[in-house]
Amino acid sequence: MTTTTEKLQELDRQHHFHPFTDQGDLNKKGTRIISKADGVYLWDTDGHKMLDGMAGLWCVAVGYGRDELVEAARQQMSELPYYNSFFQCTTPPAIKLAEKLAEVAPDHVNNVFFTGSGSESNDTVLRLVRHYWAVQGQPEKSVIISRKNAYHGSTVAGASLGGMGYMHKQGGLPIPGIEHIDQPYWFEEGGDLTPEEFGLQRAQLLEEKILELGVEKVAAFIGEPLQGAGGVIIPPSTYWPEIQRICDKYGILLIADEVICGFGRTGNWFGSDTFGIKPDFMPIAKGLSSGYLPIGGVMFSDRVAEVLKNEAGEINHGYTYSGHPAAAAVALKNLEIIQDEKLVERVAEDTGPYLQDRWQELLDHPLVGETRGVGLVCALELVKDKTTRERLAPDGKAGGLCRDFCTSNGLVMRATGDIMLISPPLTITRDEIDELIEKAKKSLDDTLKAIEA
Ligand code: PLP
Repeated sequence: MTTTTEKLQELDRQHHFHPFTDQGDLNKKGTRIISKADGVYLWDTDGHKMLDGMAGLWCVAVGYGRDELVEAARQQMSELPYYNSFFQCTTPPAIKLAEKLAEVAPDHVNNVFFTGSGSESNDTVLRLVRHYWAVQGQPEKSVIISRKNAYHGSTVAGASLGGMGYMHKQGGLPIPGIEHIDQPYWFEEGGDLTPEEFGLQRAQLLEEKILELGVEKVAAFIGEPLQGAGGVIIPPSTYWPEIQRICDKYGILLIADEVICGFGRTGNWFGSDTFGIKPDFMPIAKGLSSGYLPIGGVMFSDRVAEVLKNEAGEINHGYTYSGHPAAAAVALKNLEIIQDEKLVERVAEDTGPYLQDRWQELLDHPLVGETRGVGLVCALELVKDKTTRERLAPDGKAGGLCRDFCTSNGLVMRATGDIMLISPPLTITRDEIDELIEKAKKSLDDTLKAIEA
């Protein structure tokens, strides 16, 4: 007799084409179908319970099962389920959310353009940056400098701004006008340099690139405060101050992609606060609504607002769902929960330091070459040899193995090649962190045994 899970898996195979999935693998293994969630836990259709160490896709900041968010959506949908923000219109939730965002953002950032996702936010930022220079009579200032191994989304512009080689393979990507410099990934690429020397060296590549292209052609630099999907690459302390100095020196706009770092993940409201960045633009999404409804945005500084809101004329850009009232109402309630429950402070003062302490214990494991993290986001590097940092061969397979053991052991951990990542809900408790660490240890042991077998 076939179970509900088997029936659903069969339908899934027949009709559903999944994002970022090897469909051949999926056909062999079958999809894991998540059907229920509460707090930091997920259940699949076979009743298997897992601690969600990834908060969905880095987004479920306030945890699952929050009735306040359901009620905010219900109320707004019964009053006004949809209206747009085009042509001098908008809705009360979009206005209130914009005001709340200005309150929590860095002091000089007080405006937002709403989108439906992080990818749309990065498409938007590209257009706003070019608009900013064009309306000031400098349309040739259009190149955006990004970094290799960055992730900025999956739309054509998002994937182009991103620096994932495998995403550029389809052809036509990256689109013209986007350049990539090397990333500040010390563990993999630092060689004999200290992290500080390496951070400085990698930041100075921006200056070299600006001079190579000609400052009159360069519009902006974009970077995630820490590279999330690329493997939680945390830049050395010297990196961002030097990037900021270079952007200021040449008058280049600085875009901090806050899609993962925003809304408390690193122990401050934004990754820019944690790393001392003064951005002109901040693409946001994910934690903005804790993923309960899709919404994103591009926040921008007062100096950008002076141009875009006063001199620029009409902006020929927007989405049907820009400022969607139900999504905005949910996002507003979500930010109120983060404030009322002091989740950012909790990450900074309690659960963040506790997780970082316990995460370091994993460095004792024979497979772990480095542990790193900040706030509630962590990574570890799987290696064959701790001293030489030699990888386990074939590259990337150990990460997949470890991820699968985590899943069987009741923990959702992500693998990027041989880097294991976690980014749990901001509501996670110390006891749940203990459980996460124990499950991670067991999964590392299982991985080692399987490799040695
Ligand atoms: N920017 C960053 C830094 C991201 O991590 C992501 C998604 O993971 C995106 C942009 C794209 O966001 P979305 O998947 O909502 O389009």
